[in-house]
Amino acid sequence: MDPAHVDNSARRGPIHGSRPAVSGSIPSMTAAAPSPLASLLDLLFPRTCGGCGAGPPGSGGWCPACAESTAGPWSVAVPGAGRVAVAGRYRGPLRRALLAYKERGRRDLAADLAGLLVSPVAVVLPASATRVPGGVRLVPAPSRPAAARARGGDHVLRLCRALEPRLAAAGLPAHTAPLLALARRAGDSVGLDAAARAANLAAALQPAGRGWRTVPPDPPGPGTPVVLVDDVVTTGSTLRACRRVLRGLGCEPVGSVLLADATTRGAVE
Ligand SMILES: [Zn+2]
Repeated sequence: MDPAHVDNSARRGPIHGSRPAVSGSIPSMTAAAPSPLASLLDLLFPRTCGGCGAGPPGSGGWCPACAESTAGPWSVAVPGAGRVAVAGRYRGPLRRALLAYKERGRRDLAADLAGLLVSPVAVVLPASATRVPGGVRLVPAPSRPAAARARGGDHVLRLCRALEPRLAAAGLPAHTAPLLALARRAGDSVGLDAAARAANLAAALQPAGRGWRTVPPDPPGPGTPVVLVDDVVTTGSTLRACRRVLRGLGCEPVGSVLLADATTRGAVE
């Protein structure tokens, strides 16, 4: 059986416990439009869970009920992408939190979302990796420069840096290595079919270059476990393209971890 189709939700029991189940749109999105000042304050000091919109004022982040509802990790079969593990399906609270983090400025969700990646990392790492001096290298799948600017930074890079202390707390030292970049000419892949998306990426993905503020890290030495990190897996074209460029740098990723699995039918609300 394709592991991507294993439904882990049944063994979790009731998802929300005593908390009222929240489904559909986030309550605040259905209410009257907030004032610009209220929107700004909510952005600076989030008062609600990024997944379900619930929570007392000041709670922010990602509530225990949403954490429980992600149901992962599980492995996903992605041809040509090696070992791939995800934290949950691309739907419900996880999808809403990811979109809030990525597109709506909820950077406060980085730590909680990164925490969801600890188990997927354990799924893809060979047992020997825990004994490698210097630990694991986390390589973020890069964003288009224009998209990263519009979002106030590269959201997957930030996720990797937030993942480092979470892995360290689990006994696995890890360091972020932004080895990859997308060329400025990279077009938006929204609306492209799988083949066009893959071609677009293959043409634009490259080793990270030296910028006016950045110096790319040296590729890790032989034997250092490299884990590719991204937010959502859909066709797998990003993972395959990243692996190809990493191989050109002399690194073979042991696997890839992603927050959300959008490869299966019905994964998107
Ligand atoms: Zn929640």
